[in-house]
Amino acid sequence: MRSTIFWLATLLLASCQQPAPEQAASVKKERPAYAIAIHGGAGTIRATDLTAEQDAAYRAALDSALQIGEKILQEGGAAIDAVEQTIRFLEDSPLFNAGKGAVFTHEGRNELDASIMQGKDLSAGAVAGLTVVRHPIAAARAVMEQSPHVMLTGQGAEQFAREKGLEIVDPSYFFTQQRWDALQRAKAEEATRLDHDGQQGYQQPSTTDYKFGTVGCVALDQAGNLVAGTSTGGMTNKRWNRVGDAPVIGAGTYANNETCAVSCTGHGEYFIRWAVAHDVSALMAYKGLSLAAATEEVINGKLKVAGGEGGLIAVDAQGNIAMPFNSEGMYRGYAKPGERVVAIYKE
Ligand code: ASP
Repeated sequence: MRSTIFWLATLLLASCQQPAPEQAASVKKERPAYAIAIHGGAGTIRATDLTAEQDAAYRAALDSALQIGEKILQEGGAAIDAVEQTIRFLEDSPLFNAGKGAVFTHEGRNELDASIMQGKDLSAGAVAGLTVVRHPIAAARAVMEQSPHVMLTGQGAEQFAREKGLEIVDPSYFFTQQRWDALQRAKAEEATRLDHDGQQGYQQPSTTDYKFGTVGCVALDQAGNLVAGTSTGGMTNKRWNRVGDAPVIGAGTYANNETCAVSCTGHGEYFIRWAVAHDVSALMAYKGLSLAAATEEVINGKLKVAGGEGGLIAVDAQGNIAMPFNSEGMYRGYAKPGERVVAIYKE
């Protein structure tokens, strides 16, 4: 009798410790081979704001961007390459506020910011205030891989990009009529505001001034590495070499293989002060929150209460994806094996 009890107890213990084979398989199956998500900016984007042609053009661009990154990941490529190549494509598209199509500063220039981070070793690179580098995300990666620093700015960053052989263009390359007109509207609105309240100097743009368009990409590759990248022209009518959250590691971009990879878009001053990208990772690491709960708490909790408009895309180590935003819309999409989604509005 005693030996039977002992035998049963041993059996019970063993069955608790080792998952049944089918259980182990299903745990394995839950993590997709790869996962990738992108954003093209968050903001006042309603279905009524875009014509059918514009809507289709944005969806097509997001889909093409996803295809680029997904192909690299499908073929076993590294997340760092998927993120860089996907963002390069978005930087070349005049539809988004990054690279060509970037918004204008108060002085009528395009000043570009970007950053990239790898979750496997927390290596990171960032650039701010670039005016002649065609692909700021490539410059950010070069800082990460070919310099002892994390962030370079202005002329020094451009000199570095030149020395590393990155493509240099004339500043006029970044011009688009649409963004130029947006600057004129922002300045006119600013002048009205100044007249009304009698204040001198720069005012924070109202949300309609900066119709966003920052781009970002997060990816999980087959080796289990997480990478995040973000690239932007910042906010229309920005002044005094203002730099937003996009190139600030921990604010606009963060990646850690233990938790997640995050790329943000929205009103940068809030994303910096709330350390948004790192906060998502910290909530997962310290409080054990899921990716969905952590991103929701930050974007639709803390940030919304504070008045910080925007959103983020994130992927965790298990390939879960979250794309929350507290604005009217966010250009976004994701892909995993057998799944591809592109969306714009709250739907
Ligand atoms: N976060 C960017 C910035 O503040 C702007 C954006 O995402 O639209 O520079």
